[in-house]
Amino acid sequence: MPKKTKTTASADLFRFVANDPIVTANLTATEIAAVETWQDSDDYSFEFHEGHTSGDGRPIYIRPASLAESRDGNIPKINAVDANKGTYKTVANIINGGKLSSLDNLAQADLMGVIINSYDSLTILARRYWKNEDLPQVAQVRATMSCGSCGAKISGDVYLDPPNPFGKYKCPKCKKFTLK
Ligand SMILES: [Zn+2]
Repeated sequence: MPKKTKTTASADLFRFVANDPIVTANLTATEIAAVETWQDSDDYSFEFHEGHTSGDGRPIYIRPASLAESRDGNIPKINAVDANKGTYKTVANIINGGKLSSLDNLAQADLMGVIINSYDSLTILARRYWKNEDLPQVAQVRATMSCGSCGAKISGDVYLDPPNPFGKYKCPKCKKFTLK
């Protein structure tokens, strides 16, 4: 599976949408399906960039359109680690969040909806990016399988997370490892 194209000299900008190349390079199909809120606004981008940070805080930068050409390194960011879940409630909680005042209320609400509702997904994304982690190997199932719990039938080309040690797959419907 091809890995993200991480450049050293420049920044990787992305939109938090299901088909963005940074998103698809760092989240599995199952993880993408589990995302609660996607970005809708065009008024800002998310960004990873190297520089004054080692990446230990797993920073995800937020670049409002008004700073598109700015070389200011201190752009707004969240540190997307599990321990910070619940920290970011309004743009004021975002580091350098004052620079997001150029966003209108709709765009700010869009951004906070992503950060609050999809925080778990963002932490996975940031971890994979900063640790240069490969995506877990994804199984492609062609045979018909059925779920021992909810009875869902899966057939054809379906991408699933790798099976558990007992050879059972996670059911996309009920999320239990009871698909065989
Ligand atoms: Zn099921």
